[in-house]
Amino acid sequence: MGRIGIIGGSGLYKIEGIKNIKEVALSTPFGKPSDKFIIGKLGAKEVVFLPRHGIGHRVSPSEINNRANIWGMKKLGVERIISVTACGSLKENIKPLDFVLPDQFVDRTNQARHMSFFCDGIVAHISFSHPVCTQLQQDIYEVIKKLDLNVHNGGTYLNMEGPAFSTKAESELYRSWNMDIIGMTNMAEARLAREAEICYATLAAVTDYDCWHETEETVSVDIILNNLRKNVDNAKTILKEVISRIPKERACSCKDALKYAIVTNAKVVPQKIKDNLRIIIGKYIQ
Ligand SMILES: [Zn+2]
Repeated sequence: MGRIGIIGGSGLYKIEGIKNIKEVALSTPFGKPSDKFIIGKLGAKEVVFLPRHGIGHRVSPSEINNRANIWGMKKLGVERIISVTACGSLKENIKPLDFVLPDQFVDRTNQARHMSFFCDGIVAHISFSHPVCTQLQQDIYEVIKKLDLNVHNGGTYLNMEGPAFSTKAESELYRSWNMDIIGMTNMAEARLAREAEICYATLAAVTDYDCWHETEETVSVDIILNNLRKNVDNAKTILKEVISRIPKERACSCKDALKYAIVTNAKVVPQKIKDNLRIIIGKYIQ
């Protein structure tokens, strides 16, 4: 069975209970990942954990080397990634401390160029109409329901650039677009994971109402960190339960995402690109 990757967001820098820990520092064709990868066993399953902001929270959302992070996960045999993330709510009924499992993303970053492995001599267009692995999302949903925590199954995650939070006008604009939650990091991971044929699902925990809510205090790091602590404890419980339930084989289409996506003639793909991307494209291009 392929390993299960966990990418931890703000507040989640380690997971207790991972046994036989091995730390792996990787250098990748795309540069350095956010930190060392922690490999070990959680229950009976092999997991690979990476804190996306690095231990000590050193890496700003705009500076995260997502290509290195996802390439590293692929290299380490990860087939599924559960991304844990803090987010703001753009809807009244999505309350702080609720969980959201977004199934759509809207990109408002200026990082699009860095959201693909396919550049510099190779072109691929993956299908991305449904950016989240529905099977993995469903597995997470069932666990949260069972634990009797508040969860919203589905929703749209607006990926802003950051690192500053939104202005009120931006927050209202996104609300007028019917967006559900707002964050700074998950869109790139979802795209790159799909390109790497890794299942990806986001477990988003709401820390605040962004800044649109008239009666709530304006979003500040202080409020967010307080809610974050509560969310992280719940997220760890959810993760352990979900991971124990994940079946060995993947029945979804994520594993074949590249099958018809690469449009470049293999003969003209530069050898360096073939080498750099071998772990991703090797089964299609030699
Ligand atoms: Zn999948």
